[in-house]
Amino acid sequence: MTAASQEGQQAGKRVLLAKPRGYCAGVDRAVVTVEKVLEKYGPPVYVRKEIVHNRHVVENLRERGVIFVEDVSEVPEGARVVFSAHGVSPAVHQEAADRDLRTIDATCPLVTKVHKEVNRFDREDYDILLIGHEGHEEVEGTAGEAPDNVQLVDTAEDVDKVEVRDPSKVVWLSQTTLSVDETMERVDQLRGRFPHLADPPSDDICYATSNRQVAVKAMAAECDLVLVVGSTNSSNSKRLVEVALQAGASAAHLIDYPNEVDEAWLDGVRTVGVTSGASVPDVLVMELLDWLAERGWSDVDEVTTANEKISFALPRELRDSSPVR
Ligand code: SF4
Repeated sequence: MTAASQEGQQAGKRVLLAKPRGYCAGVDRAVVTVEKVLEKYGPPVYVRKEIVHNRHVVENLRERGVIFVEDVSEVPEGARVVFSAHGVSPAVHQEAADRDLRTIDATCPLVTKVHKEVNRFDREDYDILLIGHEGHEEVEGTAGEAPDNVQLVDTAEDVDKVEVRDPSKVVWLSQTTLSVDETMERVDQLRGRFPHLADPPSDDICYATSNRQVAVKAMAAECDLVLVVGSTNSSNSKRLVEVALQAGASAAHLIDYPNEVDEAWLDGVRTVGVTSGASVPDVLVMELLDWLAERGWSDVDEVTTANEKISFALPRELRDSSPVR
């Protein structure tokens, strides 16, 4: 035992480590998809938007020859492009086809499920109220399935602005990575205006988002500080910070790397909670645990609220030996 950890134990310093945390099945599938395309065809591989919202993952793939673009118009005609886990609208698929791009779609199947719900309710001529964050890629892709019949509801103020054609034919759907509690608040507000508001056929907030929130809630009240490993553009990671604070953590911060921890945050702290967003490889959490151990927080207890066993098959083009066109 090092002097730091001995001293830490005497001072009652400990770490509570949330489980589940980190990579979800959709992120794993998306990252492996890009790796397989790199392996099979070699660089450069074009990816529309960040494949997943994590700095480390994106920087690592960039070093290996991935070119991230904002728009398919930046991909040379006829080249190969991967669509990110967040999904794309039919307009993007069409633009890619017009440019004769060879596409591989790494959209998470749970995002695709929400796209299909939009299609179904659009066919049935519902007004669709999509709860989500304005400007988020997933929301743009989902709303793009039926741009004329989808209205985005982000803030409480947005609820008042909604206008529908027939109040008896209104349904709410949501982005997959929201705070469960906040979303239900928004639904209650909407239902106050539209008592016949229909619910989604199944939860749109995905298992990974809700499981990570349950895990951080279970430990937050015991924590003087919660550190969430994740990037600032990661919706589900940002929600973990909010949920930790709402569930009683004295402080909570989002960091990509241990060197972003302000040592002043540790003043007077005994219990540090650690978790990570669904796009974060566990190696980054291990680096944070090492960093904390060097400062006396070497006593780590895992707080387990679920064991995840979900995995998704790779996109069809990568499952067998058939070449990607
Ligand atoms: S967070 Fe949920 S919806 Fe997003 S990629 Fe992971 S499993 Fe899919």
